[in-house]
Amino acid sequence: FTDNEYLEKMIEELRANGTNVVMGCLDEVINWGRSNSLWPLTFATSCCGIEFMAVGAARYDFARFGFEVARASPRQADFIMVAGTITHKMAPVLRRLYDQMADPKYVIATGSCAVSGGPFKKSYHVVNGVDKILPVDVYIPGCPPRPEAMLYGMMQLQRKVKLQKFFGDVNRQIDKKEYEKRLR
Ligand code: SF4
Repeated sequence: FTDNEYLEKMIEELRANGTNVVMGCLDEVINWGRSNSLWPLTFATSCCGIEFMAVGAARYDFARFGFEVARASPRQADFIMVAGTITHKMAPVLRRLYDQMADPKYVIATGSCAVSGGPFKKSYHVVNGVDKILPVDVYIPGCPPRPEAMLYGMMQLQRKVKLQKFFGDVNRQIDKKEYEKRLR
């Protein structure tokens, strides 16, 4: 038997026994589950973090989209919502948290500070965009972004996850040497 013949035979046998069969792509089934259960790591350094708290509260309620379980441990989180200004002093801490997350993992840059340094772009102590140290999947502009914008950005991440190949797909990694070079 080839794989397809074997599968067809199996389906015929199941049908003969009166069993209903639903066929689907395993990647799609897994990604459907993953995308509707993305847990954020709580990581806020300044004002955008306050806006993110509003997104989790009753009025905007990100639990509606499967984001409700914000974790304090990187080992239990699926993505980091980087909300706030990242200083050079904070950058290695953020990178360490990212490294401690299990694959597959994602990053959302929330607000102008995380996207590009924002109003502090020219300051000597601020990282001009979190993508200098982490591979960013979604950028949400604004200072701060409205809760609706945050929800929209988070839903873009869900779309991205749904399109991924779960098997054999590895997260984009920034080389450690490259990271040190970009930091300064
Ligand atoms: Fe604060 Fe604006 Fe920076 Fe957000 S983008 S952390 S609101 S200064």
